[in-house]
Amino acid sequence: MTVADETRVATHSPRSADTEVTLDVRGLRMRYGQVDVLDGVDLTARRGEVVALLGPNGVGKTTTIEILEGFRMRSAGEVSVLGVDPAHGDEDWRSRLGIVLQSWRDHGKWKVGELLAHMGGYYQPHSTPLRPRPRDVTELLARVGLSEHAEKRVNSLSGGQRRRLDVAIGIVGRPELLFLDEPTAGFDPEARREFHDVVHNLADFEDTTILLSTHDLDEAEKLADRILILAGGRIVAEGSPDELARRVSRESEVHWSIDGERYVHATSDVTGFVRGLFAEYGDDVADLDIRRATLEDTYMTLVQRHESGEADDIDTTSFEEE
Ligand code: ADP
Repeated sequence: MTVADETRVATHSPRSADTEVTLDVRGLRMRYGQVDVLDGVDLTARRGEVVALLGPNGVGKTTTIEILEGFRMRSAGEVSVLGVDPAHGDEDWRSRLGIVLQSWRDHGKWKVGELLAHMGGYYQPHSTPLRPRPRDVTELLARVGLSEHAEKRVNSLSGGQRRRLDVAIGIVGRPELLFLDEPTAGFDPEARREFHDVVHNLADFEDTTILLSTHDLDEAEKLADRILILAGGRIVAEGSPDELARRVSRESEVHWSIDGERYVHATSDVTGFVRGLFAEYGDDVADLDIRRATLEDTYMTLVQRHESGEADDIDTTSFEEE
């Protein structure tokens, strides 16, 4: 793995409409007890696409991913993963998936290279001419930057090295679809950037579809072709990082005060709003300030509205600042 000189952003072009759909989810629901955690999630991903499921902790990202992996039974909805309902996925289907679990805790006494060869052995019966399985261990170690650690025991690796091993285990079977649940939690900035390179390479050169969950907007922006924002049990916004940014940049915040009391209003028509403000309050308007919303602002706004049970109408907000 090489460290890029500068921070990379998602570069490959969006997949065209006729590219094979690898993930197709309609009306996914998940109820725990009396609580509907997922309340009608729709999502798709095409071959080679990197899709980020973005949302705050506890919103249902892991639940969604584990349903798609076939590890949890959904309450309702239609789910197709590589053309198969995960509730009925067989060994052959499973061999086409890659799953990066939270850090690998077992097999501490195994040597890194031996563990990868062992895990790879499970994929051998599922090898095809197009996707030779498993991946060559030497090549894999180089790819994740662990070549010089092949002979080390797993329990002697640093945290960052262990995460790379997690990724290596996730891709040893040359998956068509890779699931990454909060992949860089606990990474330092360098490990993060290296990890981002690995993800870009998998999508760009091997056409691997990648679904990653994260609560980190920056990560979603750097890695994903498309971001899905999960809030209140549904996907509340969706688009490429650019599209979401454009959607947001149409919104601006107007800040002002009257008699020492501060106000803020989000609008896509700043001129019209300010004109109305002066028409109504004239010289009483003070401290006028106009701020363009960032992607993060919008994300926070959407999430907070859904958490408080309000609608996600970001055009007509008006509220008093403390
Ligand atoms: P995220 O990955 O976005 O942090 P999760 O999918 O882990 O969210 O959890 C979503 C919600 O569902 C949380 O409130 C969590 O407590 C709850 N939850 C997750 N798994 C279970 C379970 N097996 N039984 C009951 N509640 C659960």
